[in-house]
Amino acid sequence: MAVPLLDLKAQTTALESDLRAAFERVLASGGFILGPEVAAFEEALAAYVGTRRAVAVSSGTDALLMLLMARGIGPGDQVLVPDFTFFATASTVARTGAEPIFVDACPACYNLDPADALRKITPRTRALIPAHLFGQSAEMAPLVELAHARRLFLIEDAAQSLGATHRGNRCGSLGHAAAFSFYPTKNLSALGDAGAITTDDDALADTLREIRVHGMVSEYRHRHLGGNFRIDALQAAFLRCKLPHLDHFNAARAEAAAKYQERLKALPGAVQLDTDSCACAGNRPDGGPAATLGVPAAYPHNGHTWHQFTVLVPGEGRRDALQAHLRERQIGCRIYYPMTVSEQTAMQRYGPSRSCPTAHRISRQCLSLPMFPEITESQIDEVVGAIAAFLDGR
Ligand SMILES: *Cc1c(COP(=O)(O)O)cnc(C)c1O
Repeated sequence: MAVPLLDLKAQTTALESDLRAAFERVLASGGFILGPEVAAFEEALAAYVGTRRAVAVSSGTDALLMLLMARGIGPGDQVLVPDFTFFATASTVARTGAEPIFVDACPACYNLDPADALRKITPRTRALIPAHLFGQSAEMAPLVELAHARRLFLIEDAAQSLGATHRGNRCGSLGHAAAFSFYPTKNLSALGDAGAITTDDDALADTLREIRVHGMVSEYRHRHLGGNFRIDALQAAFLRCKLPHLDHFNAARAEAAAKYQERLKALPGAVQLDTDSCACAGNRPDGGPAATLGVPAAYPHNGHTWHQFTVLVPGEGRRDALQAHLRERQIGCRIYYPMTVSEQTAMQRYGPSRSCPTAHRISRQCLSLPMFPEITESQIDEVVGAIAAFLDGR
């Protein structure tokens, strides 16, 4: 049985009549950019995340860029970013003219290592952007403390983590501001590109609303440079119709993750990554999992959205061999991310980065398995069976 990496059709089919109604409403309104649909979505999103404000924008990447622009970050400034993340967390920093400073990853939860962030702070550091990778919150307490002590702007890259919680609060409400993405593969997805920013800072939200429309404060009066970071009314209407279902989608992912964990842990030589000895908790194990397979785990104080279910496959060439093995059996899998950001060609102007060994190791061992709310038990069994055969040398 073929198992896709994700199945967008399953979700849109279930909501088809609601999505069509949203389309009809926008078509009849004649208002296609910003407007009441966007305002209503912003209100719903802020209420969901638990912030005073939300500003809906063109994409998650633009949300990150706008936050840096709003804060006036640019040439001469440094911004701390994870080395193991999607490119945009760091490329947006570089696009402002500031220098991204790459921070190592935690070996157990894959997120930014607070101890390494502390080591890399200089008098030029202006901001810190932890990404809540694969749906699990970064360990925020030390980062909040660091941001406070060093007057850093703390931006959460929450693109993969709408609905995630950390010590009882939603991701997106844990720093000064957060960037979300509604790219079609994200847990809450538009039918195109879209993103949003959440914040409790009214002045910042007002500035962001100006930046969204070319820095315009009133008709053709431009206070900032800004840009075209507008979102379509249609995307906001689709997102309004999906947001009430998000907790249900995330719960279904969590159920699937629990099944994966239970079955994978039982395979010979597999271990669950140990969040008790995680670098975020202050002690750094090195060398990676002493096992044939590292199974991802969530901290007990984190509500994980399981955007991705990402295992580690240690041993030279074994991860790529498992990927080939699964693909041969028509099981979707993908390497998020095969290189660290600092290794990318576009980042070489910042010099070779050899200071993030754990991020580097994870990028060589990680493999994301099929994960979507509608995944069935037999699909999970199919994936686990294929992995068991691989570990057995079959
Ligand atoms: C998807 C993603 C982004 C970018 O969002 P877009 O909407 O695709 O621009 C940024 N950071 C992370 C961690 C992401 O996963």
